Amino acid sequence: MKNLLRNFLLLTLAFFVIAALFSAFSENGTEKEIVGLETVINKINDEEVREVKVSGNNIEIILNDEKVLKAQKEGNDSFASLISDFAIAPEKLENIKISVVEESGFNYWFKAMLPIILPIVIIGFFIIFMMRGLQGANSKAMSFGQSAAKSFKIEGKEKPTFKDVAGAKEAKEELTEIVDFLKYPKKYHALGAKIPRGVLLLGAPGTGKTLLARSVAGEADVPFFHMSGSEFVEMFVGVGASRVRSLFDKAKKAAPCIIFIDEIDAVGRRRGSGLGGSHDEREQTLNQILVEMDGFEATQNVIVIAATNRPDVLDPALLRPGRFDRRVMIDLPDINDREAILKVHSKKKPLASGTDLRIIAERSAGFSGADLANILNEAAILAASNNKKEIVNEDLFEAIEKVMIGPERRSRVITDKEKKITAYHEAGHAVVSHFIPGADPVHKISIIARGSAGGYTLKVPAEDRHMHTRSEFLGEIAVLLAGHMVEKEIFGEVTTGATSDLRRATSLARQLITDYGMSENLGPRTYGAKEEMIFLGREIHEQRDYSEKVAEKIDEEISSLIKKGGEMAREIIVSQKEALEKVTNALLEKETIEKNEFELLVGVKPKA
Ligand code: ADP
Ligand code: MG
Ligand code: ZN
Repeated sequence: MKNLLRNFLLLTLAFFVIAALFSAFSENGTEKEIVGLETVINKINDEEVREVKVSGNNIEIILNDEKVLKAQKEGNDSFASLISDFAIAPEKLENIKISVVEESGFNYWFKAMLPIILPIVIIGFFIIFMMRGLQGANSKAMSFGQSAAKSFKIEGKEKPTFKDVAGAKEAKEELTEIVDFLKYPKKYHALGAKIPRGVLLLGAPGTGKTLLARSVAGEADVPFFHMSGSEFVEMFVGVGASRVRSLFDKAKKAAPCIIFIDEIDAVGRRRGSGLGGSHDEREQTLNQILVEMDGFEATQNVIVIAATNRPDVLDPALLRPGRFDRRVMIDLPDINDREAILKVHSKKKPLASGTDLRIIAERSAGFSGADLANILNEAAILAASNNKKEIVNEDLFEAIEKVMIGPERRSRVITDKEKKITAYHEAGHAVVSHFIPGADPVHKISIIARGSAGGYTLKVPAEDRHMHTRSEFLGEIAVLLAGHMVEKEIFGEVTTGATSDLRRATSLARQLITDYGMSENLGPRTYGAKEEMIFLGREIHEQRDYSEKVAEKIDEEISSLIKKGGEMAREIIVSQKEALEKVTNALLEKETIEKNEFELLVGVKPKA
């Protein structure tokens, strides 16, 4: 629209310029009065005329008083015939100097051609402008292919460095080397060392992969080209590849620098795995990435960092030497790291004295860095909405639960009967967890609905553990079944409230047998070939590699494990009936009880 207006203005301007030129050529005098032929004849008859200049069809009459008049005669008649036509007495002409001026060649031709040339010029202008406009649109179409990479030289306060990344010690150590490469490349070139091309960051979502990549750029103080894998994939085939090309071109000009390809699994999936357009597009994009990475010269100081949480789906070609041969694994933070991350994110938030981030770290096992940042943010929102000036422990606890299970739903109407069942159910979980040696200590019990849960018991492992024994798993199954068993024991029948407990217990029992080889009858082997993300604990796909007969056995074994766990839970419920009643009553009264209140009721957890 703006362009159109501009073109129009330009065109009018051009028109005026031409018109001005035209008039400048056609008239080469000053103040000329244009008159009719009649007047000319009259003037001649009145003997006022001193000179007549005929030039083509133009007649210029210079009067005795130096005034200049102009007239136009008809097409083909000569001036002489004009004079005779008007019957001017010859003596009147005696004193008049009549001269016929031939038009200069250029002038003549210009005037003759102008009516032909002018439209052509105008049309030409139009065509040029149209082309330009089209080109504009075209260049927009082309810029699809241009990389939309956000390049930002991170500077000043914005620049994250390793200081802003808490924990992740091993990852930082590995990446320190990359920073060194970027800062002092000569050192490495001198020894003939090839600078690594690609670094692949692996880790669950929210573990700080993007943050780490940016902080490498911050540490080395180099430009950072950020592009997400999905941005390469567009509707049009070939766009991704050309984006890759232009991204790498830009980066090479800015070297030393970092190219960061986030979520590379969007383009880096194993090739040849499917049919259809989007796969073709992805393959082309991936191929282009491979070509570009191979095309770096030894001295070109560009390092490609990619991040993914799905290394299992990546094309093997991406991982071979010379490409993403460095792999940095970022684990979920352990308790110390969690505390450190909480500290980093609490810097700008006023915590009341007495808040203990260690406890928060204890309670947030399995949380990622992003979750922890979220906890502090939620806590700040809670404190602010209660018009507090500082964040207190309770805000933080509340925030954990909100992040973990969902917001409280105090408004959910429950009948007294339901409330009683929920109280017994949760008390059952808590008491069984408390009395089974090795099970996690209880931190909080609540019968306020939260998220989709009717109530919940918060158990937190005393320390982060990476290995588990069979008896611990059995204990866990017992704790999961406790709610169900209590309902059966106290009310004689079960409710739907235990559904998710049972589901979890069943899948845990299955894992015990098929993954951990912990079944005595089936022996130490795994069942089912799985594509699994170890650090995500998520099964993606299972292929059966055992017979029908074994499948039957597995089912039997699962049932017997569940039965065993249930029996364990029932025994504790029966033998600790008193504790169960106490906890239930406390819950019915207060709805929520914390760790210390719970310990007052049932005693300190017996050491395993
Ligand atoms: P990913 O890319 O792995 O999904 P991000 O790098 O986007 O995760 O992390 C999301 C946010 O979580 C970061 O912006 C940061 O606020 C926080 N975070 C994650 N890990 C850490 C950490 N180790 N130290 C400090 N903050 C972290
Ligand atoms: Mg990310
Ligand atoms: Zn339950």
